[in-house]
Amino acid sequence: MQLTNLTLREAHELLKTKKLSSVELTQATLQRIHDVDSKVKSYVTVTDDLALEQAKRADERIAKNGNVTPLTGIPFAMKDCISTRGVKTTCSSKILENYIPQYNATVTNKLSDAGAVLVGKTNMDEFGMGSSCENSAFFNTHNPWNLDHVPGGSSGGSAAAMSASLATFTIGEDTGGSVRMPAGFCNVTGIKPTYGRVSRYGLISLVSSFDCIGPMTRDVYDCATVLEHIAGHDEKDSTTYQSPVPNYTQHINKPINKLKLGIPKEYFVAGMEAGVESALQESIRQFEKLGMEIHEVSLPHTKYGLPVYYLLLFAEASSNLARFDGARFGLSKSDNAKDVIDIYLQTRREGFGDEVKRRIMLGAYALSAGYYDAYYLKAQKVRTLLRRDFETALASCDLLLAPTCPTTAFKLGEKTNDPLAMYLSDIYVVATNPAGVPAMALPCGFSNNMPVGMQLIGKHLDEQTLFQVGHAYQQVTDWHKKLPHL
Ligand code: GLN
Repeated sequence: MQLTNLTLREAHELLKTKKLSSVELTQATLQRIHDVDSKVKSYVTVTDDLALEQAKRADERIAKNGNVTPLTGIPFAMKDCISTRGVKTTCSSKILENYIPQYNATVTNKLSDAGAVLVGKTNMDEFGMGSSCENSAFFNTHNPWNLDHVPGGSSGGSAAAMSASLATFTIGEDTGGSVRMPAGFCNVTGIKPTYGRVSRYGLISLVSSFDCIGPMTRDVYDCATVLEHIAGHDEKDSTTYQSPVPNYTQHINKPINKLKLGIPKEYFVAGMEAGVESALQESIRQFEKLGMEIHEVSLPHTKYGLPVYYLLLFAEASSNLARFDGARFGLSKSDNAKDVIDIYLQTRREGFGDEVKRRIMLGAYALSAGYYDAYYLKAQKVRTLLRRDFETALASCDLLLAPTCPTTAFKLGEKTNDPLAMYLSDIYVVATNPAGVPAMALPCGFSNNMPVGMQLIGKHLDEQTLFQVGHAYQQVTDWHKKLPHL
């Protein structure tokens, strides 16, 4: 038995029955990180000492049978945009390269209260801006299925670490596909919950009205387990829902026959890789065999999804990133500075990468007097249309099925000189964020030896149906069990 390949559920069973200790499991995970992460490069920081200390405490908790949760003693990794007290939180940016938060994000606190063991922080596109992890200021992360290919982005480090068995679960963040797109590229399961289901307190903001923290796991059951523990109302984030978090795993085996699965016709058009298309068609047949009703639906404003997403992203990101000014957080450059503007300029010139600068400039432009109405306000109006598209389609169906990306993982360097081509790879994942609906990615096949992902999109706050349907699918398929050879 290779300990690092266990699912969360299997690991919990062994820990609970004391057939395995958290220290053993954590040591095995750290050992594997030190053995193979020089190839994958999914971690920015590995927290060996902290992890072993937390594992020891988890073992004590289990020995005393005191308040043991399904996460107690389980090693996990966190995307490097989520604050961890005393542990560097860089957003893979030079501007935060040495930043050590003095407080925990709510998600960090919840995981720590549950007894989970933090083994490290994972690489990402700088501030979450990118679809391949190549915008990290530090290094590229490689796809464990083929090291010449990208892992997807921006949570590429969390996806690659999960796929390469370098943690038992990982935490990602999804502003416009950053959990789902890399999950699809790396053959892991991942969910972007409903906006407001998980607290954003302590998450370094990209787009405050889109950002969602979500788990990445080996299978749907584990995904439901982690979401149960990180979701919920938080008085420190007024956009979180008051409604109680359901016990997702308890109801995960409910029958799915007669549920209505909608296939958005705008998502199945020319431009999709043939192997991706056939994997998706095969999963639709699988759902039919499971007794679901398949219906074609329309999301008529799909073609505006990408421009609306990027316009709003540029605008909100440009204002969110104004806090990195050389005075408050991280890097500060003031060589012979004449005035405060000079400090801003020097700090940002050196601290931000090209993609971040590009987006700040475009956002400042879209928000400026004279252009605000034409760009920002217009995009907000079309955002309402996108949201209504999902509401209408989901009024006649229980959930929707879509690809995560038109292609499988592309080669490193293939799109770095063409930002528009990079943005286009987000075509199927971005519209759900302005709409706020939950969406889960899960493995559904291979094309040219690389993993293919599908997405299940649900109604607001109805993660439960996504878990039931995804879990039923994983009972009759084994794509999610396939692991890369490293
Ligand atoms: N590819 C998206 C972007 O570049 C990903 C954003 C995200 O989800 N963090 O904006």
